[in-house]
Amino acid sequence: MISRLAKAKRVIVKVGSALLVDQKSGTIKADWLSSLVDDLVALKVAGADVILVSSGAIALGRRSLGLASGKLKLEQSQAAAAVGQIALAQAWAQALRQRDIVAAQILVTLQDTEERQRYLNARATLSTLLAQGAVPVINENDTVATSEIRYGDNDRLAARVASMMAGDCLVLLSDIDGLYSAPPDRPGAEFIAEVKEITPEIEAMAGKPISGVGSGGMITKIEAGKIALSSGCNMVIASGHNLHPLKRILDGERCTWFLAQSNAMQSRKRWIAGTLAPVGRLMVDDGAKTALGKGKSLLSAGVKAVEGSFSRGDTVSIMAGGAEFARGLVAFDADDARKIVGLKSADVQKLLGADCADELIHRDDLVML
Ligand code: GLU
Repeated sequence: MISRLAKAKRVIVKVGSALLVDQKSGTIKADWLSSLVDDLVALKVAGADVILVSSGAIALGRRSLGLASGKLKLEQSQAAAAVGQIALAQAWAQALRQRDIVAAQILVTLQDTEERQRYLNARATLSTLLAQGAVPVINENDTVATSEIRYGDNDRLAARVASMMAGDCLVLLSDIDGLYSAPPDRPGAEFIAEVKEITPEIEAMAGKPISGVGSGGMITKIEAGKIALSSGCNMVIASGHNLHPLKRILDGERCTWFLAQSNAMQSRKRWIAGTLAPVGRLMVDDGAKTALGKGKSLLSAGVKAVEGSFSRGDTVSIMAGGAEFARGLVAFDADDARKIVGLKSADVQKLLGADCADELIHRDDLVML
């Protein structure tokens, strides 16, 4: 069987602190990092987009600040992250540069994946980086995030990134090879190779955090699984103990797969159709209705009128002959949308500037009802 990882077109790889940072010396495990980057290059060469979510800032920075051991207070972790993030970014940039790949650092907070405007901007930046062949290296912006607005763990952050970027495979590399029915050191604990749905029984299998560094544990991985699966993204929990951890997954080494029951696009369309209440209406002509039926994007030329007040990224109803037949996430604020009613794309750009979107609603953001 070809590994699900091999089939993925957009892979998000989350690396835990315990794998990347040597606990004794507090320095990067360079050989391991290098072997992982070899694996990432292989995925890229095979045609996949790769996004990294890397922990390790706190673990790398704490020693330099004289906070080598013990549990840190929030402000101490944040100070350690401020120091360690420099070394972390440098290590990734250097390892990727050696393979002629450009690394890009992105530091995000919870709000960046929750608030619409920031979400859209983060998504646009990441998409541009991927289109240019760069590898984004993401971490939480630990230094500014206060306790209320922190993810605190990169498992869920990685799942949010996977969801935001319509990833089809999220790989959580950690110090355990997958999910067990009970703590793995307990007699009778069974390895779970495949999960199709995250039921209360599955949640009950997740115990307490086990590693000394990092903040994850199985519970946050299961939380990540919920986010990924509902976004149509498969997730795999695999051990990163040995060199070439992704190659090992491809070669069929033991790991736990969480399988999404629909793909990212289907989930996204379901979300647009069902979860979001439309806040505006676009009346379109018959030509536009036919074009949308064929899977095209909605262009301003086909729009006759705009109703309601909405912002870029809001959900709007698309109407023809007085009836709603489609729904989508609009790429313009209501005021701008009104200005471009009936205009050809070239005239839209003349009016609103060349950096505005080409479509009023992109086909990926549009669902027929
Ligand atoms: N953002 C933290 C760091 O880079 C790690 C969070 C986690 O381990 O999940 O140190």
